[in-house]
Amino acid sequence: MDHFLYRDGALHAEDVPLADIAATVGTPVYVYSTATLLRHFRLFDEALDGLPHLVCYAVKAAGNVAILKTLAEAGAGMDVVSAGEYLRAKAAGVPGERIVFSGVGKTRDEMRIVLEGGIRQVNVESEPEMRALSEVAAAMGVTVPVTVRVNPDVDAKTHAKIATGKSENKFGIPIARAREVYAEVARLPGLKAIGIDVHIGSQLTDLAPFEQAYRKVAELTETLRADGHGIERLDLGGGLGIPYERSNSAPPLPVEYGALIKRTVGHLGCEVEIEPGRLIAGNAGLLLARVTYLKEGEGRRFAILDAAMNDLIRPAMYDAWHDIVPVIEPEAGAETTPWDVVGPVCETGDTFARGRDLPPLAEGDLVAFRSAGAYGAAMASEYNGRPLVPEVLVKGDHFAVIRARPTYEEMIARDSIPQWL
Ligand SMILES: *Cc1c(COP(=O)(O)O)cnc(C)c1O
Repeated sequence: MDHFLYRDGALHAEDVPLADIAATVGTPVYVYSTATLLRHFRLFDEALDGLPHLVCYAVKAAGNVAILKTLAEAGAGMDVVSAGEYLRAKAAGVPGERIVFSGVGKTRDEMRIVLEGGIRQVNVESEPEMRALSEVAAAMGVTVPVTVRVNPDVDAKTHAKIATGKSENKFGIPIARAREVYAEVARLPGLKAIGIDVHIGSQLTDLAPFEQAYRKVAELTETLRADGHGIERLDLGGGLGIPYERSNSAPPLPVEYGALIKRTVGHLGCEVEIEPGRLIAGNAGLLLARVTYLKEGEGRRFAILDAAMNDLIRPAMYDAWHDIVPVIEPEAGAETTPWDVVGPVCETGDTFARGRDLPPLAEGDLVAFRSAGAYGAAMASEYNGRPLVPEVLVKGDHFAVIRARPTYEEMIARDSIPQWL
């Protein structure tokens, strides 16, 4: 459920007509709904009711500081994968004790930044990283709470580019090596093992892989405890999928996911952390664009938008589907025509949809890509000299620009010409 609905024939974000935002800010632009962000965060929070828990929003899904502040004020923690994300969370007012630090290749500089600023835990991804963290922490005279990310060798049954829990993926340490690694953590200065971390992938639409992974984590908890380690916290990662195609069957709900967590690890007396990103931000944002031209090709019709793959790369990168809807509500029973919906970038990959049945379109019309809040603006670039797409946050009947579109002058001023040139 989200808060982007037609009202009086016009698509709204909460109580704001999207056409008003387009008129003020221009297009393309990402628009987020505060009510939807909060609703999705609370669904997870409530799903874990009865267990000590912290929902750590995965900042990488949509890391605007205003989005982070919205969620933090509702009680969310944050999952960050770089010093840049960590500092964004801090800028949003999130205290270090509510931030977990994940990521495959944390540098020593990044480690120093989070140890100075305070961190709830570091999720260690490899043995060399574990040793580096030990050196950094010991040199700073601190002890850092760590979990080790284990790779449970579970097939998440999602797109290959976002599956992270198979043994051939670069993530975590093989679960079979966990006992040795925890033994080394216990010997190393500056580290204190407090739990176990797992994250098997993104856009999972089935609970079975989560169940397999969490059962393995539960078993490992007992084993490590028997070895004398104080396992008191389980970070179960993110990954629950969202319904991109409204007509398709819906993925499991957070409440079902929560019940699964209670069933698999609830008996261990651990504090549970989860790291949802997509399910919190995905349906809370859309990309608003305008039709620049309608072009009749040989046997194909192209709708050329002012948004492109640099603004929303998911279709090009993951063959992702996004519902595309006109901002002016089509008449009931309006005839549809198949369109190739494309951007202006000089790559064939700059195609949002092929042969998509859409109601009547005209040049100048506004269209919205639904479910674009996660991995949308966060993955945007300025490829083809296109200004970084701006972001707007709506709350009730008002909205604010939370990231402004840069001017061409600002974009050019970021480069510098060497004196010798
Ligand atoms: C990407 C990621 C997440 C968030 O995944 P979603 O599919 O957006 O829920 C959580 N934890 C880690 C370690 C990640 O890399």
